[in-house]
Amino acid sequence: MPQRPTIKFGEQWDKKEINELKALFEKHHHELAAFIVEPIVQGTGGMRFYHPEYLKACRNLCDQYKVLLIVDEIATGFGRTGKLFACEWAEISPDIMCLGKTLTGGYITLAATLCTSKIAQTISQSEAACFMHGPTFMGNALACAVANASIDLLFENNWQQQVAFIEQRLQGSLLSLNNHPRVKDARVLGSIGAVECLQAVNIAVIQKRFVELGVWIRPFGKLIYIIPPLIINKKQLKHLITAISTVLNEDNCFV
Ligand SMILES: *Cc1c(COP(=O)(O)O)cnc(C)c1O
Repeated sequence: MPQRPTIKFGEQWDKKEINELKALFEKHHHELAAFIVEPIVQGTGGMRFYHPEYLKACRNLCDQYKVLLIVDEIATGFGRTGKLFACEWAEISPDIMCLGKTLTGGYITLAATLCTSKIAQTISQSEAACFMHGPTFMGNALACAVANASIDLLFENNWQQQVAFIEQRLQGSLLSLNNHPRVKDARVLGSIGAVECLQAVNIAVIQKRFVELGVWIRPFGKLIYIIPPLIINKKQLKHLITAISTVLNEDNCFV
């Protein structure tokens, strides 16, 4: 049974938290090539924000058992958690990092797999070339130019300040939804806001309602969440949050 972190971001750390994972490593390390994890924020696994010590322990176990650590920063990369990369919360560095989505600010499809030079050299210099792989559209010049422009914009715009602004606004509004009878837990980390409801949403109804309210929010299961673009302004953010609090009062948006 795969376990997941239970201690939340900001809560008190307890090193017993890692025992189960440690036991899995002890038992299976000889058959593990790599360990893959979403750093700090579990996305579609439930929009959970977990303790950085857990991620640090993953790094340590990987080092101890010579297993590669792969982090999926597709959702968290480029400032969304308040650090440029979520790994920084745990002060760790992975062997392989996956990037996507915010790499281009969402303007064009592009993903990248980063790795240490040791891994890169192992792949490129291996005699069998068994890992050599060339996708048809790799290194797409247009997509790369967009990514470069997007990253330039990110740094020109003082992203730390933008994320802090969004975080502060979300804390001041989304967190008060914790008093709503339909809400189990509303939480915020950086520019990520999640409202976990007690009931699952009715996707067809809620999606239509959001569009009527002038916003594009894509909930799943019991979760309504937003990761707005960093350039969002006060008024737009308020519009998003009002839409969320509106649908929470509508019975037919839930099953
Ligand atoms: C969106 C997402 C993916 C999938 O990325 P694609 O580029 O759509 O394949 C993987 N991991 C996380 C954390 C994501 O948010």
